[in-house]
This record gives sequence, structure tokens and C-alpha cells, in this order.
Amino acid sequence: MKEVYLDNNATTKVDEKVLEKMLPYLKENYANPSSMYNTARISAKAIEKAREQVADFLGADDKETIIFTSCATEGANTAIKGVVEQFSTPENNHIITSQVEHPCVLSTYEYLEKKGMRATYIGVNENGELNIDNLLSKVTPQTILVSIMHANNETGAIYPVYDIAREVKKINSNTKVFVDGVQAAGKININLKDSDIDFYSISGHKFHAPKGVGALYVKKGNLFQPFMLGGHQEHSLRAGTQNTPYIVGLGEAARLAKESLNYELTEVKRLRDKLENGILKALNNAKLNSKSKERVPNTTNIGFEYIEGELILLYLNDLGIYASSGSACTSGSLDPSHVLRAQKVPFTSLHGSIRFSLSRFTTDDEIDFAIENVPKVIKKLAEISPFQDELKGLGLLN
Ligand SMILES: *Cc1c(COP(=O)(O)O)cnc(C)c1O
Repeated sequence: MKEVYLDNNATTKVDEKVLEKMLPYLKENYANPSSMYNTARISAKAIEKAREQVADFLGADDKETIIFTSCATEGANTAIKGVVEQFSTPENNHIITSQVEHPCVLSTYEYLEKKGMRATYIGVNENGELNIDNLLSKVTPQTILVSIMHANNETGAIYPVYDIAREVKKINSNTKVFVDGVQAAGKININLKDSDIDFYSISGHKFHAPKGVGALYVKKGNLFQPFMLGGHQEHSLRAGTQNTPYIVGLGEAARLAKESLNYELTEVKRLRDKLENGILKALNNAKLNSKSKERVPNTTNIGFEYIEGELILLYLNDLGIYASSGSACTSGSLDPSHVLRAQKVPFTSLHGSIRFSLSRFTTDDEIDFAIENVPKVIKKLAEISPFQDELKGLGLLN
């Protein structure tokens, strides 16, 4: 059966070239990179090469700003809890984020609220765009941290994180800025060295490295209380024997992502636009949720009025088309997406909202198959929808 994988914001396939680079470190080059003999130095050198590749990918000034982690959830927890532990006082206990962050940020903020922090959650407009002035108006002398994602995993909206970081520092130069960069990595250019961003996290499995490896950028001179204590690995900022093969894979994935960026911005975008326009044209009940002016090239989120999202996914699955509703981390619950609720998507299409996310491995053939079959599925489901009159009115039913 044909399989059309359109869930690349949930995870991506490992690039063959990445796997090739990893294999020697799973086989003969297994030495602990902290040991003193020659083979250990091979591992240590490979890690440092990957550090350079990741630093280059993120436009960081120096490879020493890169700490390897197990995932972006670890990166977010390390930065957010680390800043709070290092800098919060009974008075300076204010932290800011947005309502549309990934659960790895939102859950950490909720945890810190229970520990006595005061948190402010900034909303978005109907297009999913953040109001920067509103955000800046909340920054006070007591604000120790602002966390804003670079690109949203559900809608693809890009947030102006460089401007936010610069303006936040003008109001309070002591406020630290953390950016969850997972959905920007490999999709738009990243340039941290000329920015005021203090911490930036990425995850390998979102750009064709394996699951279980990520990186946290820490701007030079930034202190934080490490989350993992133990040995002196990663300058004592993240203890634990480094995962050499996966780190090597992350480095190669970063190199390839940088090399393919132009392809993402042109070809992947062309395919995404083709899919989006094809579906919107075929169905009167299809409403675009990805309405932000700035958007990553691979993502579209479309709401199908009066149709149940879980059913759409099941029917698409039967055809070998894989997409998602909400984020993979929150699916399994029937709560509609917190991101779409924040941008006030009407309830008529909120429950039937589907995210399609492409990668550089997506083909024209696959997109044609999706354009042909998604409308068929929606029309079939219209027949069993309880909203017959509404769907007739929209011309989905005779
Ligand atoms: C996937 C994702 C994460 C979590 O990354 P893991 O490496 O799986 O922990 C964090 N933020 C965003 C925006 C994501 O899409």
C-alpha cells in the first residue's frame, strides 16, 4: 500500500546519510569520549565536530555555546528550571511565556507556578500572531525569564523571537530569553550570534536525525543551575556519558539541513502550497488555520467544518495518509488543541482541524494522492455528520 507521511512536525525519518555517519560509533568506535586512550579520542573528536556543525547550523558564534541533550524537552526544562533556580528570589519571581507553546514549556511553567513563581501567558490574535507590545508591557524589573517558541508546531506560525529578545532586554537587561527552536530548525534560517537570545533548544528527530538527541544553545557568559548533575561532561552543564553515535548523527543532520534549507524554502513550500490550495479549492467547509503572515514552509493546518477530526485521521490512515490533529504529545486526549483555541478558531471547525506537515522527502506524487483523497474522505464523512443541513448549505451534500 502507498504510504504518504505528512506528519513531519511530529517526527521525521532518519536520513540515510545520517545513519551512515552514526554506524561506526555504534560498532568499532564505542570508547567513552572522556577516556584517555587513542580510540576514546576518536569519539571525543567526533563529538567536537558535531558541536561545530550544530553551532554552524544555528549561526552561533562559538561551538562552546552548544550543549548536547537527550531531546528538546530536556533542553526546555534545563533552560527554564535552570534560570529560575539560578535567578529567582522571593521578589524576582515573574516568568512570561505564550499560550501557544509546546507542552514541554507550558507544563514546566505550571510546575514552577506551584513552586511560587508568577507566570504570565501571552495570547495570540485570530491569525495566530503574537502581539509583541502586549508581551513587552508585561516585562517588569521582577521578570527573570521570557520563553517564546520560534515556530509553532501546530500551525507553523513564526514568532519574531529576535525582536522580542532585543526589546525585552531594553526593558530589563537581566531578563533571560529562552526560545524553543524545534520547529524552526531545518525550515528557516537561524542566526543566534547576532541576537539577544540566551537559550535555544532543538531536537534531532524533527530534522532527520534519530529520536533521543538534541542540543541546547547557551549564550556565552550565561549562568544557570544544571539540571543533570554528575560527571564533568559538557562543561559540567549536562552530566552523563555523551551519546556519541546520536550526537554524530545530530551533527550530520544539522549539516544536511543547512545544505537543504533553500530546497525547503522553495520546493517544500511549493508542495505545501499545492496541497493547501488543492484542499481549500475542493471543499467549501475547509478553513485555513495557518493564517500567520510569517510561516515555516512545510506546515499547513486546515479545519473541516462539521467533521470530527479523529474520524478524518482514521479514514486517512486507511488510505495510508498520515497526518495529525493537535500535537502528537496531546493527542490521545479529546481536548481540542490549545493553540487553535488560543487563536479562537470557531468550534465548528476546531474539532475537525488537521495538520499536514511535509519534509524534503515529500514528493509531488504523494501530494497529488493527498489532494485527490482528502476531499473524498471529507465528503464521505459529511454523509454521517450530525450537521446535515449545514453541510448541505455548504454544498458538501446534495
Ligand atoms: C517536538 C517538539 C518538542 C519536543 O521535542 P522532543 O525532542 O521530542 O522532546 C518541543 N517543542 C516543539 C515546538 C516541538 O515540536
